[in-house]
Amino acid sequence: MTILDGKKISNDIKDEIALDVQRMKERGERVPHLAAILVGDDGASLTYVGSKVRACERVGFESTLVKLPDTTTEEELLQKIKELNESEHIDGFIVQLPLPKQINEEKVLNAVDPSKDVDGFHPENFGRMALEMESFIPATPFGILQLLERHQVETKGKHTVVIGRSHIVGRPMSILMSQKGKAGNSTVTLTHSHTKDLSEFTKKADIIIVALGVPEFLTEDMVKEGVVIIDVGISRVPDETKPRGYAIKGDVHFDRVSKKASYITPVPGGVGPMTIAMLLKNTLIARERQLK
Ligand code: NAD
Repeated sequence: MTILDGKKISNDIKDEIALDVQRMKERGERVPHLAAILVGDDGASLTYVGSKVRACERVGFESTLVKLPDTTTEEELLQKIKELNESEHIDGFIVQLPLPKQINEEKVLNAVDPSKDVDGFHPENFGRMALEMESFIPATPFGILQLLERHQVETKGKHTVVIGRSHIVGRPMSILMSQKGKAGNSTVTLTHSHTKDLSEFTKKADIIIVALGVPEFLTEDMVKEGVVIIDVGISRVPDETKPRGYAIKGDVHFDRVSKKASYITPVPGGVGPMTIAMLLKNTLIARERQLK
């Protein structure tokens, strides 16, 4: 069994990006600049945005954090997005989700200029991705492709089962795994909460990508020997023995499933760190496209 080490691979990717930034500086070019908009003070969102900003520093990007109160109106947020769309100094930006309930998420995501949409959530980027055209691939799916590719996990002709059909993970993953090219050419089954007899699909799968948010959902009786497991789930489970009072669990029962798997991602240290690395990669791509 081989661990798909997201911590190591994400560090390799960050090192490669840092080298590209160094070369940009040597050529006298402006370095990539990522901005993040955070509305309100949700604890988890603050942590995520904080890690994104620190990651920018690590690779030599410029970063801007736009913090808005949770009383911000939709119009005020759309105005801020317009400013970032028009700013010559910002190459890419993200709007941290979830947003307060007075704000329509779809309207906000649609307002981001697709050429700066480094989260890849704009319908134009999603459509272009589905058509195998130049786009921004959402960071988590992009990270999963890199994990598979850099560990040379064969996907061609394999049967991939994706569990969960969210717009940010499951659905794009199902599209990407069936595309032509590296970490693709797979036969894909997309399963969700209305799937009957899920085990009948997972037991036949060569690769299982699990993104549903239910701790330790996938157990060893649901998989075959030699399966490749990608665990996207991140849940906080109360645990008195941990200093913070909770443990981080994935959607896979790691101890039991890892005994049958050929490759598996741990949680934490698997898909999570890849997501931030690929957000940086998308920002670098945005900058390079602007320079062309
Ligand atoms: P979501 O809540 O938007 O969607 C969950 C999906 O799971 C739905 O499509 C639903 O149909 C499906 N589902 C629910 N119960 C099911 C069942 N019993 N059988 C089959 N399918 C079922 O989820 P999301 O935003 O994709 O997030 C999923 C998990 O991944 C969460 O734990 C989230 O925190 C985590 N996540 C991690 C990263 C990362 O960087 N590692 C990124 C995004 C999300």
